[in-house]
Amino acid sequence: MRQQMENLKKLQHIEDEILDLKTTRDRLQKEGKELASELEALQGEVERLQSSLQESEKAIREFRSALAEGQERVVKSEKRLLEIRTTKEQLAVTREKETAKQGNRELQDRIKEAEGEIGRVTKEKEERETTLAELLEKSAQHQAEVAPRLESFDQTLNEKLEIRRSLLAGLSPAVKRRYQTLIEQRGGMAVVEARNGACLGCNMRLPPQFFNSLYRCQELQTCPHCNRFLFIVEENGR
Ligand SMILES: [Zn+2]
Repeated sequence: MRQQMENLKKLQHIEDEILDLKTTRDRLQKEGKELASELEALQGEVERLQSSLQESEKAIREFRSALAEGQERVVKSEKRLLEIRTTKEQLAVTREKETAKQGNRELQDRIKEAEGEIGRVTKEKEERETTLAELLEKSAQHQAEVAPRLESFDQTLNEKLEIRRSLLAGLSPAVKRRYQTLIEQRGGMAVVEARNGACLGCNMRLPPQFFNSLYRCQELQTCPHCNRFLFIVEENGR
């Protein structure tokens, strides 16, 4: 029985290490994923700003060419006005010229507006690009740090799993079944210390007689409250 108890304690220890390894591995992988999705979002943002810039630039080109046409219309109207003799015609051409001028003013406003927009978007894009560059560096650094660790994790994990297998093989079938059930149902904690009259797994007080009997333990004992295997560390005294 002593041997089984020793095996159980070792098993619990290995179990804790396996859980730690998995937790750390999951955390590192989660960090990597978070960084990647942050990067992706930021890249999308920069692309969106870039295409917004291109649209504004295209709009400005169109406004400018419309403005050039409008200015030409004004010049033509002015030329015609010099040649016109009748008042009626003069009025009509003057109206045409004024309409063209009004159109030109509106185009100039829209150009100014688009230029302002380009300025704002350019600034925003530059800021995002700076953040993106920082994030890229952070991500590369994380990758460089994590990749070798993840690799060694797998190896260490396999080693621990192998040790667990051989320790499990050293238990009697009934104890092994009980142990595995406890691991599943009790949050990965199947073997716990009893100290100062209590079970450190569920923190419940143990009947004094039962607790004292643990010192003479010839058989595997389990907590009457949580069913976990109990052991005593002699140095802790009674
Ligand atoms: Zn307990």
